[in-house]
Amino acid sequence: MSFTLSRFLLPFGGSLQTANIFSNYGRILFPGRGVKFIAYSTARTQQGNEQLLVVVGGGAAGIYGAIRAKTVAPHLGVVVIEKGKPLSKVKISGGGRCNVTNGHCVDKMILAEHYPRGNKELRGSFFSTHGPWDTISWFSDHGVELKTEDDGRVFPVSDSSSSVVDCLLFELKRIGVSLQTGKTVANVSTTAGGKYLIKIEKRSIDFIEYVEADYLLIASGSSRQGYTLATQLGHSVVDPVPSLFTFKIEDAQLAELAGVSFPKVKAKLKLENVRRQMPQLTQIGPMLITHWGLSGPVILRLSAWGARDLFSSGYKGKLYVDFIPDLHLEDVKPILLQHKDKFAKQKALNSFPPDFGLVKRFWKYILEREDLSGDILWASVPNNSIISLVSLLKQCPFGVKGKGQFKDEFVTAGGIPLSEISLNTMESRKQLKLFFAGEVLNVDGVTGGFNFQNAWSGGYIAGTTIGLLGGIFIAMGNRPFWRTFKGYSETSMWLKTDRSIGLLVNELHVLASGNKEKDGGGYLSVATYDFLFKVGGTREGSPFFNSEDVNNLRVETSGVIVGSSPPETGREKQQIDSDFFFLHLT
Ligand SMILES: Cc1cc2nc3c(=O)[nH]c(=O)nc-3n(C[C@H](O)[C@H](O)[C@H](O)COP(=O)(O)OP(=O)(O)OC[C@H]3O[C@@H](n4cnc5c(N)ncnc54)[C@H](O)[C@@H]3O)c2cc1C
Repeated sequence: MSFTLSRFLLPFGGSLQTANIFSNYGRILFPGRGVKFIAYSTARTQQGNEQLLVVVGGGAAGIYGAIRAKTVAPHLGVVVIEKGKPLSKVKISGGGRCNVTNGHCVDKMILAEHYPRGNKELRGSFFSTHGPWDTISWFSDHGVELKTEDDGRVFPVSDSSSSVVDCLLFELKRIGVSLQTGKTVANVSTTAGGKYLIKIEKRSIDFIEYVEADYLLIASGSSRQGYTLATQLGHSVVDPVPSLFTFKIEDAQLAELAGVSFPKVKAKLKLENVRRQMPQLTQIGPMLITHWGLSGPVILRLSAWGARDLFSSGYKGKLYVDFIPDLHLEDVKPILLQHKDKFAKQKALNSFPPDFGLVKRFWKYILEREDLSGDILWASVPNNSIISLVSLLKQCPFGVKGKGQFKDEFVTAGGIPLSEISLNTMESRKQLKLFFAGEVLNVDGVTGGFNFQNAWSGGYIAGTTIGLLGGIFIAMGNRPFWRTFKGYSETSMWLKTDRSIGLLVNELHVLASGNKEKDGGGYLSVATYDFLFKVGGTREGSPFFNSEDVNNLRVETSGVIVGSSPPETGREKQQIDSDFFFLHLT
């Protein structure tokens, strides 16, 4: 069986030079859905015969995904289309330092808890395929040294986001990914041959070009255009709403305290339209008073967890802050009464229990909220005021009147529902060879490097899948098995196949087809079984890799098992429950 897939490019008033960037890419044969297997090997060295991946968006997810795809499949044509400047958010992120990831969340279950949208779905293979440690290793392998701060945030040692930007752009160029800036992907449709016909516009109105791509990775962040592209391909979009913002509080006296910070408060957000109990709407951590309200990690986390409900309530609600969370409610009154006795002749403003760990300016604010003038002596403070002070310290109510801005980080909740993609591969469940990564998905994290980690992980998984799909494959036949000798991690494996191959190869990926029903009909569930093999040595006797040129290839694992369900380790002989295998040559 063979496929001839013609490639076409229709430049409309576009420059020939630009058109040529794409014209180097061609096609290789690849089995379509329902085709059991196909042998293909000759195109590898032929110029102009590769497949093409177009990445929409040169942000963290798009660039990382493009690098990964091209690394896995060097012969794959990879083009990134970016409407503005590449990696512009990386550049401004973390106050110009770029909080690359979080180093305190090694456990994927704990990591997933930092994503108000995605916390359930991301508990699976997503972070075990490429988590914070993989990100840290990737950057250090590529020359960017990183450091982990006390709160877990990971930054470049240089304290400059340029280190991250320069590294990614250098790598992109080094491996031959084409980055085209100032161009917008305006439209996309599918062709009869199962490709993507992509309309690209340049700012200057008379420039339009059409490109046909084999793979499409939409990594357009929170851009509306990206959502439109997704809907053109049959996806739905969860309405995008802001996340990670400060709370506007109309309180002139509070505003006077701008700059006062609390290392630890416990804050609870109550919204009229939310009846259900949400434990995440209570947060503990540092808080900051600003000119127009409240900010700091506690507030940002509340804004993230409450993002959708805050949006529907018009950003109105009640916030209850416990300023002394380490003291029990019943202990606070005796502490104040003791203080009253001991300092009866002193002004209430000038002395307050040191156990509270408060600053004088804030104590004055609390007294004023209780209508106690600063000159009042402790002896004159009535006992019912003591009870009110306890309440203000332990459960101080603030009216949230609106949404502020948070300059250091801002993300969008909403996007493509995770139910519409496979997180094992980042492939769409609606369209084959369509992928999503990063903020375009309905995933967002709290502050601390979690949002970039989503972009790196998604980009990496999508890039791996595309690279493996876009490489050159030799089908090996039905239900091969391998024999492990020492257990999985350091094992030598022998692949048995009923087919002959006659190729000298340097590196192999062996892919198994996934369970078709479970994986929504995808013919390759690459990330489920992805083993990287190195070829070396020979072994006497058949039946392994019968071939004229290479008899009995010995393949040794040299990579990490990627995916959620690798076969169990340490067994003498194992069989993967799959229909067919491919060798993937890189
Ligand atoms: C000020 C600020 C600081 C931040 N700091 C941090 C931080 O320190 N740590 C952290 O983890 N997160 C941080 N974030 C969040 C983080 O930047 C995002 O989560 C992350 O950038 C998402 O990556 P992405 O690649 O999915 O999207 P983006 O980075 O938004 O990239 C998408 C790209 O696609 C392009 N694009 C969109 N549509 C099209 C189209 N149709 N055609 C062509 N190009 C298109 C856009 O121009 C953009 O460059 C910060 C966010 C902001 C706003």
